[in-house]
Amino acid sequence: AGSDVEPQKDRVVTEEEWLRKWEMGNTGFHKEQGHPLFQKYLDALLNGRNGLRIFFPLCGKALEMKWLADMGHSVVGVEVSEQALKEFFTEHSLPYCEELVPEIPGAKMFQSTSGNISLYCCSIYHLSSSIVGKFDGVWDRGALVAVNPSDRQRYVSLMITLMEKNSSYLLVTVSYDPSKHKGPPFYVPESEIKSLFGLEKLDDFSDRHRQWGLDYFLEVLYILKFVA
Ligand code: SAH
Repeated sequence: AGSDVEPQKDRVVTEEEWLRKWEMGNTGFHKEQGHPLFQKYLDALLNGRNGLRIFFPLCGKALEMKWLADMGHSVVGVEVSEQALKEFFTEHSLPYCEELVPEIPGAKMFQSTSGNISLYCCSIYHLSSSIVGKFDGVWDRGALVAVNPSDRQRYVSLMITLMEKNSSYLLVTVSYDPSKHKGPPFYVPESEIKSLFGLEKLDDFSDRHRQWGLDYFLEVLYILKFVA
């Protein structure tokens, strides 16, 4: 029962509801001290490289953006709540400027004066690689799990178009019994993550497999990266 995703599949949280969460200070997802897994897996994200472009989907006011910028990387985030983005800059005493994004009606971009943190205030679905470019790394925490279940495929397909070759995507999900809480965060089972990110599967079914008594046979490709 713990892995039945049925109870959450039609759940929708609107943009207005997210804005209201920020207005009401209903932001228990925000980690005041940053995320413990970020420090631990930072090397997997960076692979010893400098001057990377790192993307933060559904960024909120995540501290890790400041940390990466301080290490000399460029950070791009996207978030529907203008309040969240302004709090990010003020809480870190970072001067910033604000401009319109000509390609996206109604969207603004908040950029640190130093230039290495650019946060788009709009829905992620309005971004594309022609607007924000491609990224060497992604920190997806509270993002895939915050996306409405029916939008997951669209979200992941977009994320894939924003990835540079040889980039790293750190994904943090949550695990709990989805019959007991409606989310967000939503429970995304591992099997769905595999299908969303399109692990290569080839139909290799033949008479041989039929003789084995099978009715399907697939070859599955995994890319295992050793980063240690
Ligand atoms: N990643 C952040 C925030 C997680 S909560 C963290 O780890 O703290 C999810 C955030 O996504 C909220 O701040 C919400 O306002 C924002 N959000 C929800 N839907 C969005 C969308 N379609 N586009 C951009 N931001 C969105």
